[in-house]
Amino acid sequence: MTISTKELKQNRQVLIGQLAAFEGKILRGSLIESYKKCGKPGCKCATGAGHGPKHSMTVNFPKRKPENDYIPLEYVVQVKEYIENYQRFKEIIEQICMINREILKRREEL
Ligand SMILES: [Zn+2]
Repeated sequence: MTISTKELKQNRQVLIGQLAAFEGKILRGSLIESYKKCGKPGCKCATGAGHGPKHSMTVNFPKRKPENDYIPLEYVVQVKEYIENYQRFKEIIEQICMINREILKRREEL
Protein backbone atom coordinates (compact mmCIF):
# COMPACT_ATOMS: atom_id res chain seq x y z
CA MET A 1 0.00 0.00 0.00
CA THR A 2 1.50 3.30 -1.06
CA ILE A 3 0.62 6.62 0.41
CA SER A 4 -0.95 9.08 -2.03
CA THR A 5 0.83 12.26 -3.08
CA LYS A 6 -2.01 14.24 -1.54
CA GLU A 7 -1.37 12.54 1.79
CA LEU A 8 2.37 13.15 1.44
CA LYS A 9 1.65 16.85 1.02
CA GLN A 10 -0.66 16.81 4.03
CA ASN A 11 2.10 15.19 6.07
CA ARG A 12 4.48 17.86 4.80
CA GLN A 13 2.13 20.57 6.05
CA VAL A 14 2.05 18.96 9.49
CA LEU A 15 5.85 18.91 9.56
CA ILE A 16 6.02 22.57 8.49
CA GLY A 17 3.69 23.37 11.38
CA GLN A 18 6.00 21.50 13.75
CA LEU A 19 8.97 23.57 12.56
CA ALA A 20 7.04 26.79 13.13
CA ALA A 21 6.07 25.61 16.62
CA PHE A 22 9.71 25.81 17.71
CA GLU A 23 9.35 29.61 17.38
CA GLY A 24 13.02 29.91 16.59
CA LYS A 25 14.01 28.35 19.92
CA ILE A 26 16.95 26.50 18.49
CA LEU A 27 20.70 26.53 18.98
CA ARG A 28 23.35 24.56 17.16
CA GLY A 29 26.27 23.53 19.30
CA SER A 30 27.23 21.46 22.30
CA LEU A 31 27.12 22.40 25.94
CA ILE A 32 30.18 21.49 27.96
CA GLU A 33 30.35 21.30 31.74
CA SER A 34 33.73 21.84 33.37
CA TYR A 35 35.28 21.93 36.81
CA LYS A 36 38.45 23.93 37.39
CA LYS A 37 41.08 23.77 40.09
CA CYS A 38 41.97 27.25 41.30
CA GLY A 39 45.48 26.35 42.42
CA LYS A 40 45.21 28.06 45.83
CA PRO A 41 47.10 26.08 48.45
CA GLY A 42 44.79 24.31 50.89
CA CYS A 43 41.63 24.86 48.84
CA LYS A 44 39.24 21.93 48.94
CA CYS A 45 39.31 21.78 45.16
CA ALA A 46 42.90 20.50 45.25
CA THR A 47 41.65 17.05 46.25
CA GLY A 48 38.10 17.25 44.86
CA ALA A 49 36.55 17.76 41.48
CA GLY A 50 37.39 21.47 41.23
CA HIS A 51 35.15 24.52 41.24
CA GLY A 52 32.09 24.46 39.11
CA PRO A 53 30.32 23.40 37.14
CA LYS A 54 30.99 26.14 34.62
CA HIS A 55 29.20 25.83 31.31
CA SER A 56 30.28 26.74 27.85
CA MET A 57 28.89 26.18 24.41
CA THR A 58 31.03 25.17 21.47
CA VAL A 59 29.87 25.68 17.91
CA ASN A 60 31.81 24.16 15.03
CA PHE A 61 31.99 25.69 11.58
CA PRO A 62 33.32 24.35 8.31
CA LYS A 63 36.62 26.00 7.40
CA ARG A 64 36.93 28.22 10.46
CA LYS A 65 37.70 28.13 14.14
CA PRO A 66 35.00 26.84 16.50
CA GLU A 67 33.26 29.43 18.65
CA ASN A 68 33.34 28.84 22.37
CA ASP A 69 31.33 30.97 24.78
CA TYR A 70 30.74 30.94 28.51
CA ILE A 71 27.09 30.26 29.39
CA PRO A 72 25.87 31.80 32.67
CA LEU A 73 24.07 29.31 34.93
CA GLU A 74 20.70 31.03 34.56
CA TYR A 75 20.75 30.22 30.83
CA VAL A 76 21.85 26.59 31.05
CA VAL A 77 18.39 24.97 31.15
CA GLN A 78 17.21 27.06 28.20
CA VAL A 79 20.35 26.45 26.17
CA LYS A 80 20.01 22.67 26.71
CA GLU A 81 16.41 22.85 25.53
CA TYR A 82 17.35 24.92 22.46
CA ILE A 83 20.10 22.48 21.52
CA GLU A 84 17.67 19.52 21.80
CA ASN A 85 15.15 21.45 19.72
CA TYR A 86 17.77 21.93 17.03
CA GLN A 87 18.26 18.16 16.74
CA ARG A 88 14.51 17.62 16.35
CA PHE A 89 14.33 20.55 13.94
CA LYS A 90 16.95 18.90 11.74
CA GLU A 91 15.08 15.56 11.79
CA ILE A 92 11.89 17.28 10.67
CA ILE A 93 13.71 19.05 7.83
CA GLU A 94 15.07 15.65 6.75
CA GLN A 95 11.55 14.19 6.74
CA ILE A 96 10.31 17.09 4.57
CA CYS A 97 13.18 16.44 2.14
CA MET A 98 12.25 12.73 2.02
CA ILE A 99 8.69 13.63 1.12
CA ASN A 100 9.88 16.04 -1.56
CA ARG A 101 12.19 13.40 -3.03
CA GLU A 102 9.32 10.93 -3.15
CA ILE A 103 7.06 13.42 -4.96
CA LEU A 104 9.90 14.18 -7.35
CA LYS A 105 10.33 10.46 -8.11
CA ARG A 106 6.64 10.29 -8.96
CA ARG A 107 7.11 13.21 -11.36
CA GLU A 108 4.25 15.03 -9.68
CA GLU A 109 3.96 18.66 -8.76
CA LEU A 110 6.16 19.51 -5.80
ZN1 LIG B 1 39.90 25.96 44.68
